Amino acid sequence: MSVNVNRSVLDQFYRYKMPRIIAKVEGKGNGIKTVIVNMTDVAKSLNRPPTYPTKFFGCELGAQTQFDAKNDRFIVNGSHEASKLQDMLDGFIRKFVLCPECDNPETDLHINAKKQTIGNSCKACGYRGMLDTRHKLCTFILRNPPEDTGSVKKKEKKSKKKDKENGSSDGERTTLTSTPSRNKTSLHRPVLEHQFCISIYLLCACFIKIARWSDVSIWVESILWFILEH
Ligand SMILES: [Zn+2]
Repeated sequence: MSVNVNRSVLDQFYRYKMPRIIAKVEGKGNGIKTVIVNMTDVAKSLNRPPTYPTKFFGCELGAQTQFDAKNDRFIVNGSHEASKLQDMLDGFIRKFVLCPECDNPETDLHINAKKQTIGNSCKACGYRGMLDTRHKLCTFILRNPPEDTGSVKKKEKKSKKKDKENGSSDGERTTLTSTPSRNKTSLHRPVLEHQFCISIYLLCACFIKIARWSDVSIWVESILWFILEH
């Protein structure tokens, strides 16, 4: 029982499908609540965390929401029909999933915590833009960035930590391989400490840049090394 992610597209061969929402009402009286049984699967096909559409329902209905990711339970307080939630999900998809340029759902959200903005990029057409952050859900998104970007950051941090743990030798090796030109200057660092040498070095460097295309550069370079070594 799958439906098109963009339900305004009636093409049955449309690439992007999602399961129809399954809702189960639990409890009685004040404690009545609606469990969205397959929220994880629905959210996966939208490439969004399951908390986003659940919270969106909460915002739209003015209802409290509960998440229990471990037990795969996403709950909206009160009794709500699956069809009503399905219609509401269209609003979420329009605002937070579909590309404003090409209507494709292959978008990623990027949180800028400093500026408190949510960027939106599309893998299908290359669109990049900003999300309208007036909807209440945006506050939630800003506080709970999509997992993807988080894991990337964690990975980066881990690799940096590894570099530190392996000591400076590894770090030096990487600089040697990646930027051999920098290594040349570091060899002459004690000489460069003298202001006089720095000015000569800069002058020669400028001269080399100008004369690089001609054979003159070889002579200038050898003169430069001579000066720096003595
Ligand atoms: Zn697009």
